[in-house]
Amino acid sequence: MASPIPRIDRDVLTVANLIRTSRAGTRQELAQSTGMGRNTVSTLIQAAIEARLLVPDGSAPSTGGRAPATWRFRHESGLILVIGVHSTTLRLAVTDLAGTPLAQDLIDWPITRGPEDTLAEASRRLTGLARQATEQHGEDLEVWGAGVSLPGPINQVTGRPTAPPIMPGWDGYDVVGSLEATLGVPVVVDNDVNTMLLGYAATLPDQHHRRPGDMLYVQIGTGIGAGLMSTGHVHRGADGAAGDIGHVRVVDADNVVCRCGRTGCLEAVAGGWALLRDARRAAAEGLSPHLRACLEETGTLTIEDIVSGVSAGDTECVTLMVRSATAVGDALAMLVSFFNPGRVVLAGPMPQGCPLFLSVARRLVSERALALATSGLEVVAAESGFEDEKRGAALLAVNALFEAVTES
Ligand SMILES: [Zn+2]
Repeated sequence: MASPIPRIDRDVLTVANLIRTSRAGTRQELAQSTGMGRNTVSTLIQAAIEARLLVPDGSAPSTGGRAPATWRFRHESGLILVIGVHSTTLRLAVTDLAGTPLAQDLIDWPITRGPEDTLAEASRRLTGLARQATEQHGEDLEVWGAGVSLPGPINQVTGRPTAPPIMPGWDGYDVVGSLEATLGVPVVVDNDVNTMLLGYAATLPDQHHRRPGDMLYVQIGTGIGAGLMSTGHVHRGADGAAGDIGHVRVVDADNVVCRCGRTGCLEAVAGGWALLRDARRAAAEGLSPHLRACLEETGTLTIEDIVSGVSAGDTECVTLMVRSATAVGDALAMLVSFFNPGRVVLAGPMPQGCPLFLSVARRLVSERALALATSGLEVVAAESGFEDEKRGAALLAVNALFEAVTES
């Protein structure tokens, strides 16, 4: 595939990538990481500057003698195309190499349109967005690659969706092959919550070239899924199904039918679609004046209506929110004891928009998980799962491009 990366010398890319990923900052650290001599490192840095991958960036704090020089990776060197497929929307972006959006688009688009129509529409719009980003930038920027985020399990060997419960027509579809043919650049695909996790991790402050490495990211949207980061790497599992917790059984829910066809699943009790199912019933039966008013005004109900009902003190909305947070908190307590993350991030309209959800989930985790596993644990809400997803899908593509060249 035509990405500008293979045209650059492999050792130059290795040095630039160590600086990009904050694994080395000074000439000495680069020499240590690569096992190369300092003169060789200096030559490679010069070549990386000429290839417009690095720029001088002042100096690191002195440890005695002259302060060592440092460099910055030029994230503005290239463009990445990002596709976020959701159940009812398509989120498209053209980003720089750090995943910062330069142009973006959000359209109503049901996932049930299937892969061919969806990916054709995404490609067509991204071509326009890339042109827009280049014009704004005033520099002729090349597209390096593309990252795709899909709401279902992805086989890590083939990059194809595997029996995704809410994506009719996508099972086994060659997303990578089809997009590489139309976009003409390398394409990487991952599950949505894994991309969110990767994008979130990149926003954490870098402490001595180490970011917090053991983390759990839980998306509570229409469905529920988790991403696991272990020692700084996304843990996908033997089949790419790690963290797919939406369909684990919860207690006292044997009679609740899930959209996967089984009963008693976590998302059938706590997922967005389950809450809306019960919110519609509450509105119809007159149990919730707030939801009935929302339904009469707009003809439909959203998770945001339940969130605003909690703020307005609507009893039924509070009951629904607490029920979801309790089921999620219970599942989290088990995961925290098992995995011992340093941080749990909750994304989606409920944890991001409703302090009650977050406090109930936090309380359950601290009550039910092992004390040792919760002593240093932070349970926080994401600022925006969608922004994390965009950044993460772009970084997934950039990481894969560098890995393909520097680790081959
Ligand atoms: Zn299920």
